[in-house]
Amino acid sequence: MIGVTILGATGSIGVSTLDVLARHPDRFRVVALAANRRADRLYEQCLRHRPSYAVLRDPAAAAELRARLSSDAPEVEVLEGAEALEQVAALPEVDQVMAAIVGAAGLLPTLAAARAGKRVLLANKEALVMSGALFMEEVRRHGAELLPIDSEHNAVFQCMPPDFHRGLAPVGVRRILLTASGGPFRDTPVETLESVTPEQACAHPNWSMGRKISVDSATMMNKGLEVIEACWLFDAGADQVEVLIQPQSIIHSMVAYSDGSVLAQLGNPDMRTPIAHALAWPERLESGVDALDMLRVGQLDFRPVDRARYPCLELAYQALDEGGTATAILNAANEMAVEAFLGRRLGYMRIAPVIAETMAAVPARSAGSLEEVFEADAAARRAAEAAIRRLAG
Ligand code: NAD
Ligand code: MG
Repeated sequence: MIGVTILGATGSIGVSTLDVLARHPDRFRVVALAANRRADRLYEQCLRHRPSYAVLRDPAAAAELRARLSSDAPEVEVLEGAEALEQVAALPEVDQVMAAIVGAAGLLPTLAAARAGKRVLLANKEALVMSGALFMEEVRRHGAELLPIDSEHNAVFQCMPPDFHRGLAPVGVRRILLTASGGPFRDTPVETLESVTPEQACAHPNWSMGRKISVDSATMMNKGLEVIEACWLFDAGADQVEVLIQPQSIIHSMVAYSDGSVLAQLGNPDMRTPIAHALAWPERLESGVDALDMLRVGQLDFRPVDRARYPCLELAYQALDEGGTATAILNAANEMAVEAFLGRRLGYMRIAPVIAETMAAVPARSAGSLEEVFEADAAARRAAEAAIRRLAG
């Protein structure tokens, strides 16, 4: 039996992961489920999946969960706090860790899984954006296995040759072609974007996802974070990663080889496909996703990215170019701006200016240690808060 911990169990990726695991009870055992504070949802998941451990970062929510489970499922041990997230990522009976906490909060528990030499199923792209060099080094040093869950990176991984390790040139790859849907506002006149609401931004045309990544998809910061993620995962240069809009979200990404071949991975837009792929790799597993009906798809379109519409993507390229802590600063500023937008403190069109101001205010340094990364993260959050107050007022 393969033991699995899910970090971010109550979220969109966590729920999809449990759906796949429940189809294969003979093969996988849920060892631990972890989340932030949604005791009600974690309670239901514990009753259904009977993990050995349930973790809530928030102690009051953990106390509530503990009280409810003590009668209904007393075998589930309830832990609390940020350290417990790291603890359940590193348990000896755990083979695979789904890293699906959203944002910077996912970095330490995801690192703990890597340091314990687990198979890390990486959904939490922010961890790699914050500390790519350090993270990849820890994966190597501890013999962990890193498999991408992000649909684009999972697609790229599937299009790489079986002996792919890292680096494009040795396997004859010229470029990575990351596809993007363009988000809910890809056809909205730019001058009307000023007044869009969080509800409109979260109504993605093809994917159903958590709120933060939904807003990132609308601004295309998500694609910017993914370009950075691809550079670390595949050891590629920024100029080897191209972004193009594929409005149907059927082609999840492509790899262009030096002989002119382009390999693509296609499928219905459902995260259970990359999740099942990474859980079973190198085998294949029934995921619950229907086969792609090409005749129903009918047509596949491609468009270039309109850079004026998506200033956040430019900012991500700029941070990647600066290197060091610049991408951690970008990530922190984006998290703050998106939270302010979702809380209706900041207009949609002010998200990019907040990030740009933060990047200008906080100088990038080397990202040689976690302390430096967290220092940059904290400084960026302070600068972003000041920018939000100024730009919102
Ligand atoms: P979500 O908001 O639906 O879920 C987030 C999960 O993280 C929840 O379980 C929440 O309890 C937990 N969490 C949040 N803050 C926490 C904290 N401080 N401590 C512990 N747990 C915490 O988000 P999601 O859409 O599932 O996305 C999760 C991650 O996967 C993100 O990094 C996102 O970029 C990535 N991702 C998601 C999708 C998708 O289709 N949803 C696709 C690709 C990548
Ligand atoms: Mg993606």
